[in-house]
Amino acid sequence: MRYVTTRSKGTAKSFAECLLEGLAPDGGLYVPEAYPTVSAAELRRWRSLDYAALAFEIVSRFAPEIPQERLRVLLAETYCAARFGDPAITPLKVLEPDLYLLQLSNGPTLAFKDIALQLLAALFEWRLGETGTSLNILGATSGDTGSAAEHAMLGRHGIRVFMLSPKGRMSPFQRAQMYSLNDPGIFNLAIEGTFDDCQAIVKSVSGDAAFKSAMRIGTVNSINWARLMAQVVYYFKGYFAATETDDEQVAFAVPSGNFGNVCAGHVARQMGLPIQLIVATNENDVLDEFFRTGAYRPRTAAETHETSSPSMDISKASNFERFVFDLVGRDPDRVVALWAQIENGGGFNLGGSPEFDAIGRFGFTSGRSTHDDRLRTIADVWRRYGVEIDPHTADGVKVGLERRAPGMKLICLETALPVKFEQTMVAALGRKPSRDPSLIGIEDKPQYVTEMPADAALVKEFIRSHTD
Ligand SMILES: *Cc1c(COP(=O)(O)O)cnc(C)c1O
Repeated sequence: MRYVTTRSKGTAKSFAECLLEGLAPDGGLYVPEAYPTVSAAELRRWRSLDYAALAFEIVSRFAPEIPQERLRVLLAETYCAARFGDPAITPLKVLEPDLYLLQLSNGPTLAFKDIALQLLAALFEWRLGETGTSLNILGATSGDTGSAAEHAMLGRHGIRVFMLSPKGRMSPFQRAQMYSLNDPGIFNLAIEGTFDDCQAIVKSVSGDAAFKSAMRIGTVNSINWARLMAQVVYYFKGYFAATETDDEQVAFAVPSGNFGNVCAGHVARQMGLPIQLIVATNENDVLDEFFRTGAYRPRTAAETHETSSPSMDISKASNFERFVFDLVGRDPDRVVALWAQIENGGGFNLGGSPEFDAIGRFGFTSGRSTHDDRLRTIADVWRRYGVEIDPHTADGVKVGLERRAPGMKLICLETALPVKFEQTMVAALGRKPSRDPSLIGIEDKPQYVTEMPADAALVKEFIRSHTD
């Protein structure tokens, strides 16, 4: 298994080589040269595997160079009840016949990002052990990624984390999850600015090639191929949990922002899993617009709405390029030309092209959800099923119910727990969501954070002076 990039031909690399890199040097994203396909006999055999064993079957196809025994142990240590609160890792809850919630948010930081970042941390540790080096992870977060990354990297050999977050803009619970970590390898930097300012700093610091290599800077953002690979596993697991045979079509409703989660579903489908994918956006509806019309028009920061499902407030869906690469027949020259149109300030329109006319073969549909839809869906799901869902999951449920084909089973992905978004839950239910006793009072714990103006030079200086 070799990896190519979405923007040039002929630079195939191994999984291990792509692991620590974010963007490829040509500005594209790494993708497998070809997706491994799963035979009918394999699907039948995979059905009865537990989560870690299923993950082994999938990850070993994408990363054959990891010694098999090592990989089995690493996956068993990652996907265990101690970390994910349930031996099923991603339990499937039945809401009513043919309507399910796939519970992806029982990891340490209560959002589905734990599933990928816990594995990424273990893979980084393996790779650094092989090469005898250390890594300084630099990231920007608007909430869920930062805490999932910090909790995953905590205590890992040779790894430090420098995480930028916009000062005062995350929920009190999200702040507490990150800033209450007191560890010599974790540095929280609260930047006086927005999430976009934080991201611009990360871009500028990693764009300084000399600094990047001298300081061994790595990233954990959602374009990392290994994160996507980790997420492929729960599409198989959820499918097996909801069906009895391997030929039934099932739809997944996926709350989407950067297109990472649903792109993993696309990979699962390309591998041969018989599923349909329903992309749910909030008011930031670039992706819905694309699947309806073929026009992809990334918004500017100023045109991006601040909504009550904030982890989906994305103006440019960074993983989308991987899907478009497949859509245009894996032709990197086409991708380069389309993204040049984006960089020239516009977007592109594939509406009316033969590729877009044939988009049905990829099994996508889409829809959007608004603040009012979110509140209504949270209240409805509570009233009908006695289940609390968070605002992002609610966007998925709303759009999924609207778009699913008649008679087809629908699996809604739960992307976070309600406790992370108390204010919106109060607006929907008239009360605070329930809270596990272990989480009571986390907002009152001491917090460890350094405040800093939005200045890349100061961030560099901070990294230099906190690295030995
Ligand atoms: C990150 C996130 C999303 C969006 O997922 P993408 O992979 O970026 O599409 C949705 N919901 C929650 C709670 C998230 O943290």
